[in-house]
Amino acid sequence: MFSKILIANRGEIALRVLRACKELGIQTVAVHSTADADAMHVRLADESVCIGPPPARESYLNIPSLLAACEITGAEAVHPGYGFLSENARFAEILAAHKLTFIGPSAEHIRTMGDKIEAKRTAVRLGLPIVPGSDGGVADEAAAKKIAAQIGYPVLIKAAAGGGGRGMKVAHSEAQLSDAFATARAEARAAFGDPSVYIEKYLDHPRHIEVQVMGDGKGGAIHLGERDCSLQRRHQKVWEESPSPVIDAAQRERIGGIVAKAIGDLGYSGAGTVEFLYQDGEFYFIEMNTRLQVEHPVTEAVTGIDLVNEQIRIAAGLGLTARQEDVRFSGHAVEVRINAEDPATFAPSPGRISYYHPPGGLGVRVDSSAYQGYRIPPYYDSLIGKLIVHGRTRPEAMMRLRRALDEFVVDGIQTTIPLFRRLVDDPDIATGQYDIHWLENKLATW
Ligand code: ADP
Repeated sequence: MFSKILIANRGEIALRVLRACKELGIQTVAVHSTADADAMHVRLADESVCIGPPPARESYLNIPSLLAACEITGAEAVHPGYGFLSENARFAEILAAHKLTFIGPSAEHIRTMGDKIEAKRTAVRLGLPIVPGSDGGVADEAAAKKIAAQIGYPVLIKAAAGGGGRGMKVAHSEAQLSDAFATARAEARAAFGDPSVYIEKYLDHPRHIEVQVMGDGKGGAIHLGERDCSLQRRHQKVWEESPSPVIDAAQRERIGGIVAKAIGDLGYSGAGTVEFLYQDGEFYFIEMNTRLQVEHPVTEAVTGIDLVNEQIRIAAGLGLTARQEDVRFSGHAVEVRINAEDPATFAPSPGRISYYHPPGGLGVRVDSSAYQGYRIPPYYDSLIGKLIVHGRTRPEAMMRLRRALDEFVVDGIQTTIPLFRRLVDDPDIATGQYDIHWLENKLATW
């Protein structure tokens, strides 16, 4: 096992990783920008190193600074959290070249899955069901029209280098295709420096259902069930739950088994998430994330398995702590993302938290780096914490969510807590009847 790990991240996820290290008796090194000198992850770590000024590209994305921090502190491994360098194959390679362990999959697997066209090809090869669409990139408008006519409108044009829902455009008819194609390419070029796009059938009422997997890197892999992340705004998840309200045990075993086998065949190492759209009883692969996800705690709540602990053990060559038959799914968990944002306009709301009181009690978990007096810097994403509730049944989890939201006080800034107070009482949410478009349609009526 490692004796010291450097956590190349900030905020709630840095704290989350730090907690797993503590339980394993591993020393922790926090890194921070000058804007984060007072952050909780810095206060709780055994050591900390300032790695640069506030802009992420000069600090949290600054690979030479991170290498220097490892060298100074003697850290043997790096946990990247999510975001920042977590899906950067080059970073994984550079660490390896310096005899440091990247806590995550191989650079090759990160690279394959990071290119969405390659990822889809790999999914086909591994036997995963995919969304019908172009076989690879689509070079020009004429080719796009031909493929769209074959698969039928509406179609979705997506960036090969995509992420965060950028570079994605729907065309409902051939008349809309030219514009959608040109805009998607321009957006992809601006956001990712790569204008390559591909085409998929646009599903008009899917749910977003993803399967959590863990691979041992030697051909073994298990699945930890699914998460339903259909409640989204601008393709960003705001509420996640496990199990999905529309998946039963037999379906879970079937799709989970298919995914675990695929991941094992790939020789994948560490935690990963295979994302699907689910419509009319069918699963369609859209992408794989080769890292820990923001929403991993709902899986931890229903399985009792600490995903970060598993990630660290796998990276240390110790393998998985559970076989598939040891994994038991118990009850229902919901996570809501508490962002420092105006709950009506979603405009960022940085500033000082004048009063902070997180909820507690049975079945309530708060993963947050916020504290009273903390000043949220304006440079990073607006997630300040996650509220996760667990109950024996979905209604029990919802009851607990309502109560915990009521108890949660964050003064001095605006947060998305009021949004969730409204959602928790919505009849469609209560019955689990929502697809990926539901939230945006709902917000438009408020
Ligand atoms: P990104 O990497 O940008 O997050 P994804 O491929 O994961 O892109 O898709 C993000 C979201 O976009 C999905 O969760 C879903 O809401 C929507 N989406 C993606 N593909 C389709 C599709 N073929 N039809 C309808 N919606 C889609």
